[in-house]
Amino acid sequence: MASDAHSHPFDLSKLYAGAEAERVKLNLVCAASAWRQEEFLYNENAARAFPMALCFAVHPQLPSQLASHGASGEGGCALKTVRDSLSLLSELAAGGRIDAVGETGFDLFNGEFRATEELQDELFRTHLVVAEGRDLPLVLHVRHAMQKIFSYSSLLKNIPSVVFHSYSGTAEEAASILRRGVNAYFSFGTAILLNHKNAIRACAAIDSERLLFETDAPYQRLPGRNFSTYADIHLVIEQAALIKREAGQSCTKTELERTADENFYKVYRKMPL
Ligand SMILES: [Zn+2]
Repeated sequence: MASDAHSHPFDLSKLYAGAEAERVKLNLVCAASAWRQEEFLYNENAARAFPMALCFAVHPQLPSQLASHGASGEGGCALKTVRDSLSLLSELAAGGRIDAVGETGFDLFNGEFRATEELQDELFRTHLVVAEGRDLPLVLHVRHAMQKIFSYSSLLKNIPSVVFHSYSGTAEEAASILRRGVNAYFSFGTAILLNHKNAIRACAAIDSERLLFETDAPYQRLPGRNFSTYADIHLVIEQAALIKREAGQSCTKTELERTADENFYKVYRKMPL
């Protein structure tokens, strides 16, 4: 069995109708991201057929949609969507229907996203309160924003575990986060197959006990493909084991897969074994 620490089953199903059947065949437990009711209900239903860790949060890229569309018209609609999603988050967390709060965090990749930093802060603080109050793990989306995470480290220490989805920081930053007492896990996807030097270095240096793997399906597609899918998890883990061996560590794909499954269980409390 393998585990996929971050995916979007609803979005994947729109591109690949056989995705859920593939997941069952692979015996794969995934953590499923959602930020709208329609998405969440799809995931919740799929989780009844085969285990899934259900996650819910307002994505940090959403405020830039609000800003780019203005406060009325489409923007007003987006604002209502954010409000609806936030109240759904509270409802789902209170009802014990989610296994994690996420993906939340910061995207400061370009000027358009940076312009909404204040709103992203506001949203992030709300998600932190829900995660801490309900004793739920937090799944982070962090792009060009590791400094923000450091500024919140004293609050992140109170969260049972914190997953950095598609970790884009350095190995040194990962070590520093752990030293600050944050129970952090670092998830790697297809970036390590695509010669992303930082991700490869971090994957080599971070202890296996702190690693997770993900497909971010359908969003981390490999060259020549239209989307990523659950089966890609095996390519990712195989590559991570190779990276560790090249760094002089003894590590097989089977061992790494087992450790990642145990880590997945510690975070999401869903058993992939
Ligand atoms: Zn994602």
